[in-house]
Amino acid sequence: MAARAKVRSRARSKSQGASRTPSRAVRGTRRVSAAPRAGGAAAGRSNGRARDLLARLKEDAVICAEGYLFELERRGYLQAGAFVPEVLFDHPEVVEQLHLDFVHAGSDVTQALTYYVHREKLRVIGREKDLVPMNRAALGIAKRVARRTGTLFAGDICNTNVYDPADKGAIREVERIYAEQVGWAVEAGVDYFVAETISWLGEALLALEAIRKYSKVPAVVTLAIHREPLTREGLTPAEACQRLEAAGADVVGINCHRGPRTMMPLLKEIRAAVKCHVAGLPVPYRTTPEQPSFMALTDPCCGGQRAFPVGLDPFMCTRQEIFAFGREAYALGIRYLGVCCGAGPHHIRALAESLGRHPPASRYTVDMSRHTIFGTDKRIRKIMTDYQAKA
Ligand SMILES: [Zn+2]
Repeated sequence: MAARAKVRSRARSKSQGASRTPSRAVRGTRRVSAAPRAGGAAAGRSNGRARDLLARLKEDAVICAEGYLFELERRGYLQAGAFVPEVLFDHPEVVEQLHLDFVHAGSDVTQALTYYVHREKLRVIGREKDLVPMNRAALGIAKRVARRTGTLFAGDICNTNVYDPADKGAIREVERIYAEQVGWAVEAGVDYFVAETISWLGEALLALEAIRKYSKVPAVVTLAIHREPLTREGLTPAEACQRLEAAGADVVGINCHRGPRTMMPLLKEIRAAVKCHVAGLPVPYRTTPEQPSFMALTDPCCGGQRAFPVGLDPFMCTRQEIFAFGREAYALGIRYLGVCCGAGPHHIRALAESLGRHPPASRYTVDMSRHTIFGTDKRIRKIMTDYQAKA
């Protein structure tokens, strides 16, 4: 543990002095290995990179694609509502391809899809007997992709929807959920843990405690902040993150629920309040001060109905908005970056490009110079470009 503490303190001092603009190293390098082939060049490169989150954060930002459930729902492999990834059994090849798509787009991390594969959620859908094999399936797929692509292999635990600070039985159940999921992930050999989308500080502390107790790898803990800019107990995210840092979290911050616009003010407060690395993973939706979370958004086009979860399309952030988020967050010294529910690979590519990176998917980043009407290339016919104003 002493060596680990040393690494952590080095990472902290670096984060305090984080530069305001992307470093030369960030601008100039290709961070992500090419679209992976089993046993190919990508596997060789993976061996050359440290599987140490804190070492990577020390040298550069780390991009972590999240929000797998929403993307799988859009692709037609997951049911919105319960949001349990039964796709792990029904179509494991789809999960694997999704991981690969996010790596291709610039994710430095392959996070096991164990979000909502905990005892409580499986109980809700009547599949508690599948708890162990479903966790192992998620971990196995993610590990395979991570090792082939040189990305970090992250374990994932999340909101249990059981936690009640006044109910000792509920707290024991939360502890059990975290202990068993951490245990399976440790057996799978995760490089670090993410505890995410947790709205109670008390629950987040239990998640962190389980990671500390049953594993020796770093812990990223990110809170999810609903409409009120407070945890469910009523603490500011900055206060809650200070508590998480004091309890030993390596990276603290927020994920999900809020879009870039309404997450950024909270991230600024967190960055100023803690010494450790900070994480920011918004949803890619245009949340507003009046409707600051994606669950609060209402669509004026549809009688002012709540848009969550399957009517959010008109609120989707553009690539440019995610690019701007990445630039601003990095300039603030926020090093652990990603996009949560609603993110597609195009958002992750925009985030990577905001850091000056050129992931394999950037081979196909928009270039309008050869467009039929708006192109500037001399091979485009004048009869077409003359029509621009009428297009
Ligand atoms: Zn999310």
